[in-house]
Parts: sequence; structure tokens; C-alpha cells
Amino acid sequence: MMGSTKRREHGLKDPVLRKVMAEMGLDSVPLYDHQSEARISYRRRIDEMAAFRVGPVGPKRREVTDPAAMAEEVKARAAVCGADLVGACALQPVMIDEGVDCSFSNVIAFAHHESYQKVLHGADAVSDEAHRAYFMVAKIATEMVLWIREELGWDAVSHHNGGTTIQAIPVMWQCGWGELGKNGSLIHPVLGASFRPSFVTTDLPLAHDSPMSFGVQERCVSCQVCINNCPGDAIPDDYVVTDGVKRWLTDVEKCYPYSRLRKEYCHLCVDVCPYNAPNHRDDYMFFMKGRKAEGYKTPKMAGAD
Ligand code: SF4
Ligand code: SF4
Repeated sequence: MMGSTKRREHGLKDPVLRKVMAEMGLDSVPLYDHQSEARISYRRRIDEMAAFRVGPVGPKRREVTDPAAMAEEVKARAAVCGADLVGACALQPVMIDEGVDCSFSNVIAFAHHESYQKVLHGADAVSDEAHRAYFMVAKIATEMVLWIREELGWDAVSHHNGGTTIQAIPVMWQCGWGELGKNGSLIHPVLGASFRPSFVTTDLPLAHDSPMSFGVQERCVSCQVCINNCPGDAIPDDYVVTDGVKRWLTDVEKCYPYSRLRKEYCHLCVDVCPYNAPNHRDDYMFFMKGRKAEGYKTPKMAGAD
């Protein structure tokens, strides 16, 4: 199956980033130059796990007669590895990078939460926490891919920040983890958008999950909290519909001066979303009070119910 979704280039390969850097007279990316010891360590450990993305398949294949039971076993094992969310769906061209030929029929998705409390400690703490979550999901995908290949005898490839050809949003949506919000993130009913994903592609027979909705997109139509708190005015009010899916497209050219071209990370469009509140109501209210004190238009606890 040939992938059909164009991957946005990362780092200095990204032509939009280079354009904005030129406009700002920058020849390096302040965020990338400003790395904590924790981030450097997580990055190194993630890169080390790239060596296990592909590998030998065990000689004895476990035949699967009950894909639903197999999916449950995969989910239980991934939970023990540290996954907060696990889903499975049929691989589709839109889930694969454009021009990449992938022969597997299924993709398994794993997510690990980011601690919401970190927003109270500032942008650096949020960035360290994002890297911790990326490390955790890389570890989960690595442990799972080794189990599937070596113990179950089915070929499989892991996808995480150490290397991937999988497009995260279409897979997470198809796995029923939530809806696409105005802030451009997939919003889950419990975790909000405070999580990071990884994936395994395989032919291991598995029952599939399916998309779900719980009212996010209706709420986003009238909620302005992420728009009002975005320092770059990068979040549009209007949505587009692609392949039948409604979504809001963040203007990355406006976002980059804040999310890449300062020393401090920007994650505000996720942090201010009221879907963070259900499990973190006090922290959310305290954080939003601080935003308001800084002069941002934050409707009184809009939607934090
Ligand atoms: S990361 Fe920051 S600048 Fe970019 S869209 Fe989100 S809030 Fe706006
Ligand atoms: S802050 Fe409001 S508009 Fe933005 S994603 Fe969350 S619910 Fe939707």
C-alpha cells in the first residue's frame, strides 16, 4: 500500500521554518539551541531505540483465531508497558507518508499522558515533560514490537520519534481516541490533548477500533479559548473538511515565531483547552487565572465543567 500524506519536514529542512527564520534574520533555531539535560538525555535514548524498529522475526508464529482476544491481549500488555491509550485499526494510505510503500495491514497506536501539572512550572517544564512522554511511547512501541516479532512470530515495525513513516492524527482518529479540536490537536475525553503517541505496523490479526465523537467539534465552533490565548494569532476560526473530516488548520507560519523561534516552547493552545479540566480542574483554573492576569482574554472558566 502506497502512502498518500505529505509529511511536514522537521527542523531546518522545513521550508516554512526557513522562510520565517529569514524574515526574522535568524540563522539558527533558538528552541533547538536551548536544550535541558533532561531533553538531551531523552532524545539520545529515543535515538538508541531506532535500532529496534525493524528486526528478525521469531521462528514460531502464534496462529490467531480470535482477533478480538488478540487485540485485548495487546492492549493489556501495552498497559503494563506504560500505555494510557491503546487502539488498533486497518492501515490506510492516508496514514502513511507520501511515497512510502507499506505492506502491513494493521496499525497499533499507543499513547502516554503528559502531566498537566507541569504547565504550572512554565514552558521549560512543559517541554521536558513532552520529551519524557515521547521517550515513554518510544519505549512502549519498542517493547511491543519486540514481543510481536520475537515471541508472537509476526513481522512488525515500530514508529516513534526515533523514526516513523506513520501519520499520527489519522491513526488516532480512526482508533477512536477523540475528535480534532480547533487547536489542531486530537482531543481525548480524559486526557484532552495532553498525550504523545507511537505506533507499530504489523499483519498480526487484530479487532479494529472505530472513530468516536463526544461533542468537541460542536463546542469548538463557539469556544474561543485557544484562539484568544495564541500569541501568534495562528489558530483559525474557520474549519475545512477533508475526506469528510472537519478540522482547523493551524497557520504554522504564524505559529513558528512562538513555538520554534524563541528559547521557550509554546504549547499554550493545548494547555488552555478546557478539555484538560475534567481530571485537573484546580490546576486548570489556577493556570487560567494566571493567563487572565497576564492580560489574555480567557472567558471565565469557559467550558471547565
Ligand atoms: S503553539 Fe503557541 S503559537 Fe503555535 S498555535 Fe499553539 S498557542 Fe499558537
Ligand atoms: S480551547 Fe476551545 S476551541 Fe480550542 S480546542 Fe479547546 S474546546 Fe476547542
